[in-house]
Amino acid sequence: MSLLRVSGLGKSFGGVKAVDGIDFELNAGELLALIGPNGAGKSTTFNMVNGQLRADVGSIRFNGTELVGLKPREIWRLGVGRTFQIAQTFSSLTVVENVQMALISADRKLFSMWRPAASHKRAEALELLAQVGMAGQADRPCSVLAYGDVKRVELAIALANDPKLLLMDEPTAGMAPKERNELMALTKELVVQRNMAVLFTEHSMDVVFAYADRMIVLARGRLIAEGKPNEIRDHPKVQEVYFGSGKTFEKDKMALKVAT
Ligand code: ADP
Ligand code: MG
Repeated sequence: MSLLRVSGLGKSFGGVKAVDGIDFELNAGELLALIGPNGAGKSTTFNMVNGQLRADVGSIRFNGTELVGLKPREIWRLGVGRTFQIAQTFSSLTVVENVQMALISADRKLFSMWRPAASHKRAEALELLAQVGMAGQADRPCSVLAYGDVKRVELAIALANDPKLLLMDEPTAGMAPKERNELMALTKELVVQRNMAVLFTEHSMDVVFAYADRMIVLARGRLIAEGKPNEIRDHPKVQEVYFGSGKTFEKDKMALKVAT
């Protein structure tokens, strides 16, 4: 059974159908990329799953529970984590303190005497940091870290709630190619180790083709293709709306004119 089952999902803004009745599924242990040109409806889809936006129509079933109508916090508690396009950590805290905070928050005790209990959950936090390769920098303030390392800390923070599904909005935005590959290789490892599902949006096609198990492609709010990276690469519809524009030969343009 799929972990996430999206059906007939739609959302309009004014007259614009940002997402226009899409269906897809996601299994545990799967890394699914959501791609498409600007304005295709990726963020809108994402934000309906995490509860920031409420769907107009359709259903999002997660592990047997309907998410449409739930608040972001409720969805998070069910085991849907997320990372942000621009990594979010508390820069005044150390790396390990950030993860300790997240662990305490996952226990729903965020405001219960955090300060006096500096050692609280430290061992557990260090364990999570080890999983993302950041144990060695545990006691450094987040403010001094390289951006790629902040992203790793953000991942550890998301893992503190032990998510079954992790939503990653352009995880590699602003990263150099080497850092990108390291972060995605790590994500892939976590997916396998934890049997966790990941849904991510991504601009870099190198990243998508190298790491996604499966891809779904949106254009103007519609799902136009779905499949393994090698199937998507050669998909005529995808090439047309997504890869085609910059590469079209003069001859093809004429053919297209005749066709339309
Ligand atoms: P993507 O993330 O794929 O670039 P979005 O989901 O952000 O696409 O946007 C899909 C469409 O919905 C676009 O036409 C966009 O202008 C519109 N849209 C998105 N969010 C809003 C909003 N809050 N208000 C009005 N229009 C929006
Ligand atoms: Mg977007």
